[in-house]
Amino acid sequence: MATYWPALRAIDHLRTFPREWLPSSALVDFLLLFGAGKPAVRVQLTNPEGNAALLSWCDEVDLDLAIDEESFACISVARGDARRILKIDRASEAHEIELGLALGYPLCCCQRIAAVGEAGIDRYAEEVSHWSFTGPYALINPSGYLEGRALVSHIPCSVNCESSLEIATRARRFVINHSSEPFLSYLVRSKLVAGK
Ligand SMILES: [Zn+2]
Repeated sequence: MATYWPALRAIDHLRTFPREWLPSSALVDFLLLFGAGKPAVRVQLTNPEGNAALLSWCDEVDLDLAIDEESFACISVARGDARRILKIDRASEAHEIELGLALGYPLCCCQRIAAVGEAGIDRYAEEVSHWSFTGPYALINPSGYLEGRALVSHIPCSVNCESSLEIATRARRFVINHSSEPFLSYLVRSKLVAGK
C-alpha cells in the first residue's frame, strides 16, 4: 500500500536526509519515497560513521531503519518492513519478485528481473542502458540513477512500461512543485524534468 506524504512534510524531510553519508542515487530513492509512494529504500552506506546520522534522521521523520553487517540499510515507511526487507535480500532462494515489490517496483518489472535472475542483472542493466526511451517514456530512463539523475529507482521491463511511467510522472511532478529547492536544481535542469 503506497503512502502519500503531505507535500510540506515531504519536502521538509527530503531536505534534511543525510546525503553526505549516502551514495548519490539515494536522492532518487528518497524522492520516490516522499514524492511517489515508494514504501521502502535499500541503500549501502558509504561510511559506517554515517549510521548515527541516518538513525537520528529516521527517528526525526518517523521512518523505520535496519542496517546489516555489510552496511546495507533499509529505510521503510511501515514499522518492521526495514528488517523484513533486509532478510528477504539475504534469503538463499530466489527472491527478486518479493524484494522488488517490497521496494515499490512495478510487478511487471520485478517479473522481468526474476526471469533474468540475480546473476544476470548486471548484464540486463547494461543492455537497458542502450535502449532508447522516446516520447513520454524518456522519463523512465534509469541510466542516470547512480548519479542521482533519474525518476525511477528500478530497471524498467520495457521501453514503454506504463507502471514505470506512472511512478516517474509522479516523481517529476514533485520535483516541479519544489523546483526552487537547491538540492533538486540539477534534476530540475535535467532533460528528465525540463524536457530538453
Ligand atoms: Zn514494467
